[in-house]
This record gives sequence, structure tokens and C-alpha cells, in this order.
Amino acid sequence: KSSKKISMSKFAHILKVHPCYNEKLHDKVGRVHLPVAPKCNIACKFCRRSIDKECCEERPGVAKRIMKPEDVEDYLQELTKKMSNLKVVGIAGPGDSLFNKETFETLEIIGEKFPDLIKCISTNGLLLPKYAKKLSDLEVKTVTVTVNAIDPKILKNIVEWIYYDGKIYRGEEGASILIKNQMEGIKKAHDLGLIVKINTVLIPEINMDHIVDIARTFKDIAYLQNIIPLIPLYKMENLRPPTCEEIKSIREKCERYLPQFRACQQCRSDAVGLISEKRLNIFDLKHFSH
Ligand code: SF4
Ligand code: SF4
Ligand code: SF4
Repeated sequence: KSSKKISMSKFAHILKVHPCYNEKLHDKVGRVHLPVAPKCNIACKFCRRSIDKECCEERPGVAKRIMKPEDVEDYLQELTKKMSNLKVVGIAGPGDSLFNKETFETLEIIGEKFPDLIKCISTNGLLLPKYAKKLSDLEVKTVTVTVNAIDPKILKNIVEWIYYDGKIYRGEEGASILIKNQMEGIKKAHDLGLIVKINTVLIPEINMDHIVDIARTFKDIAYLQNIIPLIPLYKMENLRPPTCEEIKSIREKCERYLPQFRACQQCRSDAVGLISEKRLNIFDLKHFSH
């Protein structure tokens, strides 16, 4: 669509350097994830993280793997010395970025001390209507929202419950609130000039034939879709991951509506460096970001 092209041209400078929005750069430009956001406000059935299982309370030694906003400056100072190609700093968990106040504190620090780094976040979108404006004020440029279904009857099989406005909502009721907020939040973020990427986890037995509806729904307000295969864990450990053929075919169907990103490695929430480098750093979080 031409309107999309025009509105996107003002982002050309970002899209030229962001490795998650440009496959050609994926192995050339460095990004770092700051694991400052431990808590999550929804319970995806393939993810162990949830509000009642905040890692720091359960197991000793886990707390040190979460970065505190006050450590961010030193860490980035070190990194920018070592990595000349560091361009993007993302907050991708290990919980939901918008559900942790540390995310906003961190974004402020980055804006103040490292104004040249592109600020990026990923979220499940439940709180995006509430915080889209704040993100835009903090000069976040790119937002990834994980949308795994837009039909509550399907989403209830993926998300067990959500925690919203002080209450737990289960099943279809929770799924409906999440979908409503994702739609509203993505629209709002787009209207504020943020570039939105949709991440979708392909779960063959649950959402395979539905993913194209997601692509169609967001065709005018998202920039890109990143379909990633289920890693069968936790309550989904008995479900099968998609075959390469299935991923390929779903991406082709979705491409009619949204450009597809095909180079994702499902980085951890503390990843650092070039995406091809599985370089370890001082943290060791065994959790995928989104
Ligand atoms: Fe890339 Fe997502 Fe990290 Fe942003 S938050 S840098 S889009 S992986
Ligand atoms: Fe939360 Fe992300 Fe885990 Fe879902 S996958 S429960 S949004 S941390
Ligand atoms: Fe790129 Fe995927 Fe890693 Fe994000 S999670 S940096 S899109 S490979």
C-alpha cells in the first residue's frame, strides 16, 4: 500500500540499522537485550514464567541474573567499548517489559546516557494501550507485540490466564481482554509513529490455520511479521513443533498481507552481540525473549 510506504519512509534511518527489521543486517549490526523485566502478567502455556513464579523468590542465585536499572549504564559503557557496531538496545523480558517499572527507568537511562542507541521493546501487548504514549515520549522507535491468536476461542488454548487491573481473568474472558488490548495498543502505537512488528508462535495443533487471519488483521498498521516455531515446553511439552514445510507454507500465506521476517533465532532475553554469535555474557537466563 502506498500510504504505508510513505509513512514508513520517515523511518528509513531506523530500518536501515535495526537487525530485527532488516534481514540483510541481521548478521552485521549488534544488539543487546537488557534483562531488566522479570515479571509477567499473562500465563502462556509454553512458558514457565508467570506472576506467581517470579524467579527471584523461588531459587537462590537467580536474582543476580536479572539486571537492575542502576547497572545498565556500566554494562552499556563496557559493551559500547567492545562492540563498535552496537546499534540497538532491546528490553525483551524475561517477563513482560511493560509490566515492570524497571523497563521505563532503563529506557530513561539509555535516552540520557546513550542517545544514539535505538530503543526497542517487546511485549505481550496487554498494557500497550496504557503505555504506548509513554513509550513514544521515551523515544522508543520499535515495538514487537506477540500475537498468537485474535480469536478468544483459540487464544484460550494458548494463554491460561491474564492479570489485569488487579484481577486474574481465565480462559476465554482473559483471552478476549488480551486480544482487545493488543488491537487497541498496536493501533495506538502505530498512530504515535512507532514501528510495530508482530511476533507469532506457530503451534501447529492450535493456531496454524488461523495465523493468516492475524496477518490480515494487522496488514495496515504493522510493518513486519515474525512467525517463530513452537518450542514445546512446560504445558505444551507434548505438542509438536511445526515442520520446516509448515513454517514455509504459513509464511507464504501471510506474506500476502504482511512482509515476513525469516531470519529469527529466538534470542534470549539477555542476548548480546551479533545475532550469529552465540556469545555468552555475564548473565545466564535460560528463557527465550519472545
Ligand atoms: Fe529485536 Fe525484539 Fe530485541 Fe527488539 S526486542 S532488539 S525486535 S529481538
Ligand atoms: Fe509472559 Fe512472554 Fe512467557 Fe508469555 S511467553 S508468559 S508473555 S514471558
Ligand atoms: Fe533477531 Fe529474533 Fe533475535 Fe530478535 S529474537 S534479535 S528478531 S533473531
